[in-house]
Amino acid sequence: MDFKVTILGSNSALPTSLRLTTAQAVEYNNEIFLIDCGEGTQLQLRRMNFSFPKINHIFISHLHGDHYFGIFGLLTSFSLMGRKQDLHIYAHLHLKEIMEVNFKYSGELNYKIVFHDLSSLKERKILDLKHIEVYSFPLKHRIQACGFLFKEKDKEPNINPQMIRLYELSHTDIRSIKMGNDYTDSDGKLVANERFMLQAKPKRSYAFCSDTAYFEKIVDSIKGVDLLYHEATFTEQDKARAEKTRHSTALQAAKIAELAKVKKLIIGHFSSRYTNPKILEREAVTIFENTQAVNDGDVFEI
Ligand SMILES: [Zn+2]
Repeated sequence: MDFKVTILGSNSALPTSLRLTTAQAVEYNNEIFLIDCGEGTQLQLRRMNFSFPKINHIFISHLHGDHYFGIFGLLTSFSLMGRKQDLHIYAHLHLKEIMEVNFKYSGELNYKIVFHDLSSLKERKILDLKHIEVYSFPLKHRIQACGFLFKEKDKEPNINPQMIRLYELSHTDIRSIKMGNDYTDSDGKLVANERFMLQAKPKRSYAFCSDTAYFEKIVDSIKGVDLLYHEATFTEQDKARAEKTRHSTALQAAKIAELAKVKKLIIGHFSSRYTNPKILEREAVTIFENTQAVNDGDVFEI
C-alpha cells in the first residue's frame, strides 16, 4: 500500500515566491490526509494533481495563520465543486468558532463538517481506520499546538499461498493456522505453524512536529518512526530567537530525531532569513546524519 508524504509548503510565517507556508499531504491507500493548510494550499494541491474528493480528513496543528489561513478557500472550493460527503477537521475548538463566523457571512457550505476538538493536552488516538490510525500529542509552542503520528496497524497474519496449494488446505485449516496452530497432514505428520506463515512486513509510521520549541517529552510519542518531520525554523546562531518564539533550531530537531531513534528526519518551517536551507541541513547532520531539508513539492515514500 502506498504511504507517502508530499510537502506543499515549507516556509514559516509568510509565503515567498519559492516557498508557501506549512501544508503537507499524506497519502495512504487512496486516501489523502491534509496536515495544516497555509495560504495557497489549494493551488499547490492543484499543481501537484491531488484529487480534492479524496481529502476527507484535515489536521490543523495550531492556530497561527501560517498553518490554517488556506482552509477557507479550500473549503469554499470543495463546496463550489459540489462536494456532498462529510469532511472531518481535527483542530483546536477555536477554529470551529472562527469558521462559523466566516461561513455565516461568506455563505454556508453545502456539505457537513465533522469537527474533532484537539484542545486536550494529552496524547490520544484521534482517527482509527481499517489500516491506519492517527494520534495527536502536545507540542511546546506560544499557543497550544499538537503533533500528529500516522501509524499503520497490525496486519492479519498471511499464509503463503504456495503452502495452501501444497497441502490443499481447507478454510477451517487456514483459520486454525492463522490462529497459530500447527497442522497435521494427511499422513499424520505435524507441520510447524511458522512454515506456513509469510514474514509480516514491518509497520510504517510518520510523525509531524510543528511548531515547537525543543521538547523532549515528544520523544516517547514518536519513538522509532520511519519518517519524522520536525520544524527547524532557525540555526543555532539564532537560538535566542528560537527560544523566545518557541521554535527549534536545526540542531535541536536533530537531537530529537537522535533521541527518538527515527529512521529519517526531514526539516522545514524555515525562517525567510535563510535563503539556502542547506545551512540548516548541514547543522542537523552533525547530530543526525539522515536529515534532509525539504522544498515545496518534495515527496517522501515511507
Ligand atoms: Zn506557530
